[in-house]
Amino acid sequence: MREYEALSASETLAWAIATFGKAFAIATSFQKEGMAIVDLAARISPGVRIFTLDTGRLPDETYQMMETVRTRYGATVEVVSPDRDEVERMVASHGPNLFYSTVECRQMCCDVRKVRPLARKLLEFEAWATGLRREQSGTRAGLRRVEQVDGRIKINPLVDWTAEEVDRYTREHEVPLHPLYARGYATIGCAPCTRAVGPGEDPRAGRWWWEQDARKECGIHFDVGPHPIRLNRPAGLLDLAGETPIAPLRGRSHPDA
Ligand code: SF4
Repeated sequence: MREYEALSASETLAWAIATFGKAFAIATSFQKEGMAIVDLAARISPGVRIFTLDTGRLPDETYQMMETVRTRYGATVEVVSPDRDEVERMVASHGPNLFYSTVECRQMCCDVRKVRPLARKLLEFEAWATGLRREQSGTRAGLRRVEQVDGRIKINPLVDWTAEEVDRYTREHEVPLHPLYARGYATIGCAPCTRAVGPGEDPRAGRWWWEQDARKECGIHFDVGPHPIRLNRPAGLLDLAGETPIAPLRGRSHPDA
């Protein structure tokens, strides 16, 4: 897919919309990058599909952004929730704030609340767009504009944009910004796992800040390494205490395995 690297963000989205139609969607958590993509895509096709993962632990400001996108762009935001049974069993076994205890528990929470709901939602699509940029972290430096991942096309329209370019686009086009940016947040995620960062601090430092050596990824975009919870574990997903397995998803494996 080398030829796609020469496309601009807008050209990439125009190609995706024309090629895949309703089998294409933008995934966004309403960070600047996602909002820039929503704005770019709305100029091409106002009816482009947009979805977001509601983990159940989002800050209230993110729900405000869902309303903002609805009113500003006339868009329907498809809200994807985790499986209630999986959440209830996880919380019963490990407590509501299990993510603070160990890296494995944090990854379990991300798996149940993000990775698995995303995998289920992606069954509806042939292609999807993310706001990932190479500049964001070392783990993202090798991203391509258009990738084939697990039988599906993953599109990163802003892959070569700098943070300054994102800021310039949102400013010049008066794109609505998540209110938490004004309070020092560099990235936006779940309320208990995201905090503001100081001047000069790595933007990813605001995520899971209590983890010292873990990769600052939730598993949606990267395999976070060996841990007990994998979508494609054939015998089912054992939780950390080895209790009742959470059944593996049918029909697809990990979205980015
Ligand atoms: S970011 Fe935190 S609350 Fe959200 S899914 Fe991951 S561990 Fe759970």
